[in-house]
Amino acid sequence: MKLNTAALRYLTSEDWRVLAAVEQGSKNHEVVPTPLITQIAGLRGGSGVHKCISSLTKVGLIAKVKNAKYDGYRLTYGGLDYLALNTHRRSSILYSLGNQIGVGKESDIYITASSTGRQQVLKLHRLGRISFRSVKANRDYLRNRSTGSWLYLSRLAAQKEFAVMKVLWREGFAVPEPIAWSRHTVVMEFFDAFPLRMVEGVPVEKVGGLYAELMDVIVRLAQRGLIHGDFNEFNILIKEEEHASTTSETASATPNTNITLRPILIDFPQTISTSHANAAMYFDRDVACIKRYFERRFKYTSDEEGPFFRDAVKGYEKLAREERLDVEVEASGFSRKMGRELERFVEPKLPGGDEDGRGEEGDGGEDSEDEEDEVEEVDIGLREDGEQAEDPQVDDPKLAEEIGGLS
Ligand code: ADP
Ligand code: MG
Repeated sequence: MKLNTAALRYLTSEDWRVLAAVEQGSKNHEVVPTPLITQIAGLRGGSGVHKCISSLTKVGLIAKVKNAKYDGYRLTYGGLDYLALNTHRRSSILYSLGNQIGVGKESDIYITASSTGRQQVLKLHRLGRISFRSVKANRDYLRNRSTGSWLYLSRLAAQKEFAVMKVLWREGFAVPEPIAWSRHTVVMEFFDAFPLRMVEGVPVEKVGGLYAELMDVIVRLAQRGLIHGDFNEFNILIKEEEHASTTSETASATPNTNITLRPILIDFPQTISTSHANAAMYFDRDVACIKRYFERRFKYTSDEEGPFFRDAVKGYEKLAREERLDVEVEASGFSRKMGRELERFVEPKLPGGDEDGRGEEGDGGEDSEDEEDEVEEVDIGLREDGEQAEDPQVDDPKLAEEIGGLS
């Protein structure tokens, strides 16, 4: 499922309206009937809409579906990609799209640039690409889900990830700065750093310090009400920072070298609250993951036991409401109900092993072969001819109600 931006520049503003209309219609129609698309798009003259529908179908942004009762269209991941990209470029968040740097089983990661040339990461969530992340019991259920619900769940994943990153970044946790989200995508700060899994040769004198720092992150998160839930060597980027002086106080700095290994935490859709019913289990699993990795990779075992969940959350009850980050994430619009819906899919991963889809590096699944040659930079800058697409405004209150709230 490659992000193919070839058609991005050639869509007319009518095409964009029709695409956005299919998206809006999907809110309560699995298959959006053509008359509804016409109505929402609000374009005069039916033939124009048909022309747009046909060109959008041709480039794969919408797909024709024959329903038992009627024919209609549904949005594809490609269509959702375009709508999100368009939103980001309209709000001047994204200017150009560069290389793909990561292919997770459930996300694609691209380097992008802002209009000022700042490098950023665009993460496109792709839930439903595979379902190995979920426990067996969910699999059959997952397989039978329609594309529309996958798009919806991918949106939830992005929205949650953005909400979590926002509070963590504000509170000074080492996470990428979240810049924007739209639909199933998050734009965030780019770190020129590799996941711990890919880092060769952590100097032996730095291993203990790095371990302690990672455990400290797990504990500090829990003290504020959050558990990452997938805290492992793939989701920790290691930034090498050089220092002019050697007096750094960070745990992993040592006097005989002035390089500090700074861990940066990423990947938050499965983050949970410490008041979740299985919180202790997820906390322990995050801890165990790091312990196991350090034992296997660095032959390092800490003298200390723990950290333990009960110690980490001891002070939580005393926190003021506004200091509870789990409460804040929930209040940010990512409701408990949405959390529960998403949790069915992204939370119950099987611990360890390749079962969760993490193979050796660059394990890109079925579409990994042709990712490599994707190197050209694609300019998705604002159209010079002024044809900036806008989402259709629905004036008819009855229709607006029928298609649900706009977002
Ligand atoms: P997934 O949910 O697919 O695991 P991640 O958020 O973990 O997605 O990102 C996948 C990979 O992309 C990471 O292992 C890392 O190599 C790269 N990556 C993700 N975010 C960033 C970032 N902000 N800066 C640099 N690299 C990143
Ligand atoms: Mg990850």
